[in-house]
Amino acid sequence: MTVIALVPAAGFGTRFHEEGPKALVLLAGKPLLLHALERLGASGRIARAVIAVPPDHRAAFEPVVAASPIPCELVDGGVTRRDSVAKAVAASKAADDDLLCVHDAARPLVDPVEVAAVIDAATVAGAAVAGFSLIETVKKVQGGKVVETVPRNDLVAATTPQVFRADLLRKAFHKEAKRNVTDDAELVERIGVAVAVVLTSRWNVKITYPEDLHWAEAFLARGPLVEANA
Ligand code: C5P
Repeated sequence: MTVIALVPAAGFGTRFHEEGPKALVLLAGKPLLLHALERLGASGRIARAVIAVPPDHRAAFEPVVAASPIPCELVDGGVTRRDSVAKAVAASKAADDDLLCVHDAARPLVDPVEVAAVIDAATVAGAAVAGFSLIETVKKVQGGKVVETVPRNDLVAATTPQVFRADLLRKAFHKEAKRNVTDDAELVERIGVAVAVVLTSRWNVKITYPEDLHWAEAFLARGPLVEANA
């Protein structure tokens, strides 16, 4: 059983006030995508990666491929994240019992130990996602007014990595061919698979807005975390 990383990296930083691909934005002097690949590689579990990139920007990604600790193949991404992942699945040439580890290029701080934990959970369950418990109170709002307060005890914010047995992810993309989703697990849930959840640290942020980059820089610049009662 091989684990292949699928990395959607074809988005543009429109909420980020950037012109080019967001995956190439520099964090501490290194592209977000390279941070992500290094951390996936440090898990010691990933054999290779398929990266979905904007078709017109392939050449700009070559330096990242050259610097990556895991062998990488570039494929043309799609108009939506879902399309980009679907194209990476098709290009992966995975065997049915291989694991596909989908991880956003926009999450450069993922913990390698947590990557391994999600892979372990998917080895048992067939599908597993990373996520963290919500600490804020969640309210449903319409027209600027609260219409409902959602009990948060059962709520988890799903992140990546999301790891699936290849046959399950292929079947999910095939059966839910028209559904646009913001994570791949939803498709796998819809074909009746019980997806395991691995709770992780909240540092696994998605770089979406400029302030997220400042956060990530502070994380990388910090010393080792000191336990509160040490
Ligand atoms: O837009 P969002 O931040 O949710 O994107 C999550 C990830 O999906 C990013 O790494 C982005 O590059 C990728 N993406 C993609 N193809 C698209 C849109 C987003 O690969 N068409």
